[in-house]
Amino acid sequence: MHDTSSVMFITKRPEIEMVSGQGSWLVDNNGKRYLDFMQGWAVNCLGHSNPGMIAALDAQARKVMNPSPAFFNQPMIELANLLTQHSCFDKVFFANSGAEANEGAIKLARKWGKLHKNGAYQIITFDHSFHGRTIATMSASGKPGWDTMFAPQVSGFPKADLNDLASVEKLINDQTVAIMLEPVQGEGGVIPATKEFMKQLRELTIAKGILLIVDEVQTGCGRTGKLFAHQLFDIKPDIMTLGKGIGGGVPLSALLCTDAVASFVPGDQGGTYNGNPLMTAVGVSVISQLIAPGFLQGVVATGDYLKEQLLKLSDKYHLDGERGEGLLRALKLGRDIGPELVEKARTQEPVGLLINSPSPNLLRFMPALNVSREEINQMISMLDLLLAQAPK
Ligand SMILES: *Cc1c(COP(=O)(O)O)cnc(C)c1O
Repeated sequence: MHDTSSVMFITKRPEIEMVSGQGSWLVDNNGKRYLDFMQGWAVNCLGHSNPGMIAALDAQARKVMNPSPAFFNQPMIELANLLTQHSCFDKVFFANSGAEANEGAIKLARKWGKLHKNGAYQIITFDHSFHGRTIATMSASGKPGWDTMFAPQVSGFPKADLNDLASVEKLINDQTVAIMLEPVQGEGGVIPATKEFMKQLRELTIAKGILLIVDEVQTGCGRTGKLFAHQLFDIKPDIMTLGKGIGGGVPLSALLCTDAVASFVPGDQGGTYNGNPLMTAVGVSVISQLIAPGFLQGVVATGDYLKEQLLKLSDKYHLDGERGEGLLRALKLGRDIGPELVEKARTQEPVGLLINSPSPNLLRFMPALNVSREEINQMISMLDLLLAQAPK
């Protein structure tokens, strides 16, 4: 283990270094293996060291890495085409992180408000939502305590309650330009919006002439068994953001919108790395693999299997069941033993297990979308042992 004192402290990290990865497995500097059901926080949708992604990176690195954002490049165009062909959106802007894509969505909605709604700028967001760690996206987020953390916030993000239409209607006024939400709240604890609520929000936003923005940074790119989670609800939003899975592990995100909303003019939007071919080439490989025949059906089947196995554990240990969509799932523990289980899972010998606890009474599972049944079985039997030893 190297001296880590030069690395800025932002969070407690265990005294190990991760050195390699393959599929659902990570290996640390001691040679210990970990079964990875976090996958970089739902990022590595094709697992570690996906051969298609490696080939795309290698081939593009030899052609050109950065011709500058002043020019079109082939992977940028190809990825934009792939995304518009497989969604209800017409235009795509690429960025580097989920927060940055969401910043773009906020700017685009405010721009549209300036042009079409007399300068309306308020975007209704939701309690317990998560939209990123820049100042504006922290302000949009509904994480408890975030309103005062780096005050003053960016104003204009009133908060409603998820799955409660009246709480949204109450906040709409002539300054409202959009409603923004995650189809399944990820960091908030894997809380799905109901189909009824999503449909009502779409009807409401159309009736009021305001925009519907879906933050699919966590739910997009096959995670829920659909290419995009809003497709579970048969709705067409005006704006969507993607991050995490779209790059399969490399920094890539996207802002998508319909023709009716696309209104940036030169100077409004940019970014040094936007649409850079090295990352978009990887994105082409990722999306191509996700839309290959049978892949998403496989995610649905694997998600159902994981759900069944989690429910069995819940029955066996009298827990509170589970929830989620596709391969974004949470086990409801019924008591605050999540952080302890996460720690024990990772540190157990000889093989560790990587899981996450977004709140103390939950465990979250976000494996590679191509995780095998054997790997799920192995994860479940490791968790079974941990639950058997957990405090009652
Ligand atoms: C992770 C996440 C973000 C932020 O993405 P970064 O790449 O960390 O900036 C935004 N929205 C949702 C729903 C997320 O899960």
